[in-house]
Amino acid sequence: MSAMINNCAIRRTSSFLHRPRTRTLSTKSSTKSNIERTNMFGKTQRAIEEITSKLGLPQYRAKQIYQWIYSKGSTLFQDMANIPKDLQHKLESNYFIRYGQILESQLSKDGTRKMLIQFNNDSKATVETVFIPESHRGTLCVSSQVGCSLSCRFCHTGTQSLYRNLTAAEIIGQYMISAWKEGDFPRLQNQKPNISNVVFMGQGEPLYNFRNVSAAVGVLTDKEGIAMAPWRIIISTSGVAPLIPRIATELRVGLAVSLHSADNDLRTEIMPINKTYPLPMLMQSCAEFAAQAGPQARRITFEYVMLDGINDSDKDAKRLVGLIKNLPAHVNIIPFNPWPGSIYRPSSAAKVTEFCHIIRTSGIHASVRTPRGDDIFAACGQLKSTHVTRTSNLSKAAAATDLAC
Ligand code: SF4
Repeated sequence: MSAMINNCAIRRTSSFLHRPRTRTLSTKSSTKSNIERTNMFGKTQRAIEEITSKLGLPQYRAKQIYQWIYSKGSTLFQDMANIPKDLQHKLESNYFIRYGQILESQLSKDGTRKMLIQFNNDSKATVETVFIPESHRGTLCVSSQVGCSLSCRFCHTGTQSLYRNLTAAEIIGQYMISAWKEGDFPRLQNQKPNISNVVFMGQGEPLYNFRNVSAAVGVLTDKEGIAMAPWRIIISTSGVAPLIPRIATELRVGLAVSLHSADNDLRTEIMPINKTYPLPMLMQSCAEFAAQAGPQARRITFEYVMLDGINDSDKDAKRLVGLIKNLPAHVNIIPFNPWPGSIYRPSSAAKVTEFCHIIRTSGIHASVRTPRGDDIFAACGQLKSTHVTRTSNLSKAAAATDLAC
């Protein structure tokens, strides 16, 4: 599906999006370009307090603005009904609220939506965000870095070098864009949100961007902000062992570990980060996490991608059981989704079933991930690669649609 078709669909489905630009306030200063103004989106309540106190305003104004931005999804100061007009003008003169731009949006037959989002009009600063609806929940998978430095050999994103960390605003921006798209804004009272869970399982290693991920989690879980329950958020790491306990003590959210082998040498071959943080160190950190986490977030999800003839034998399954049997664990078995140039092949369905059976009969929770969105570019990083190829000769302006601002 072309970007232009999707962009038309975006305009049709949300009145928020086709609000005319001419509604911006008609003061002289409001004609400042975005280069002269600052993006207020992504700022914490404390940072907004600093802005309002410089303007000589009481603290409650910061709280009001914060709630308009994150709880009500407002992108125009003039819509902030309890903010006086003169303050709206002042804010409009110096700030704007902008999430990012959708470059491409693909909707699968099963409802999975994958978007390619660009930040700061920088064609290199693009990431993928995926929404996966299920009967009992809706999960948003967000990226934390543009590209990745870790080169896990089964991962398509690992073929794209790291460009930069995402800011907290860019991480939360992925949520806001998706929440508008899935109908969670404007918020209605007692409305069950379509996006119920957020997982940091997109592009990048979230723990290599701890500060910004932490700030984003703060806004996502703030009762005056997006107000998501912390246990509905999961941070997935390739195994940055020293920072894992801080997911429990500071962020208070759930943990997933990209494990993929219980054999130290094989894991190093599949995931080079294992050289830096070998399995014994990783398991020690997981035990610390489990000891520190609250009851709802204690269970650790171990992700295990099934690679034909590499890590899918009965012996591999028993070794995995031995490694995690003393932890509150769930094993998420992932059928490998091959991508052009990948060196691995998917395990057979029989192997996947047998592997899962061995884990379950040992008393450990295990499930096989159902492939979702396989009629769109489903492997992480693939939409970005194909977009770069297809649009290299097109103007960026033609391909992009402003979602906010
Ligand atoms: S699996 Fe995660 S950490 Fe590894 S290369 Fe892919 S994005 Fe990076």
